[in-house]
Amino acid sequence: YSPLPDRDFGGGCLLVGTVQLIDYGVPTTSLKAMACPLARTFTAWVRNGVVPAGREILGSDVRKVETFGTYACRNRVGTATSRLSEHATGNAVDISAFVLADGRRITIERDWRTMDPDVQRFLQVIRQSACRRFRTVLSPDYNAAHYNHLHLDLGGAALCR
Ligand SMILES: [Zn+2]
Repeated sequence: YSPLPDRDFGGGCLLVGTVQLIDYGVPTTSLKAMACPLARTFTAWVRNGVVPAGREILGSDVRKVETFGTYACRNRVGTATSRLSEHATGNAVDISAFVLADGRRITIERDWRTMDPDVQRFLQVIRQSACRRFRTVLSPDYNAAHYNHLHLDLGGAALCR
């Protein structure tokens, strides 16, 4: 990783102590600024949660993680309250898909309610693994706004949905 300069974008959108992940062993798309504890938790989750789950449950290594990104200056989506999202401080990441060594691509949007029992179990196991590591984990089970990604953050409310 490389450390990024602190920046204040106004309106509460603030990056302090963030890093850009460069290489932690699993190629990951669209990562921008991440708060350092988030980067540490995220890389540990992929290495120690996602990769072993792929190997054990799906019989294939996870070769790529696709995300919708990290930093974004915006409010929370899908809730009545207009509060800043954890994304506004680089404290959240949205996971959209996993690409396996055998060529399969598992997406949150298409496969969250799959009939394939192994893929189902893989997604449940990595969510549980995320819930043990992050503060807030929101999946398509939470609300319609999360139909296509897993939201992971280290913010205030402990939620595993
Ligand atoms: Zn999110």
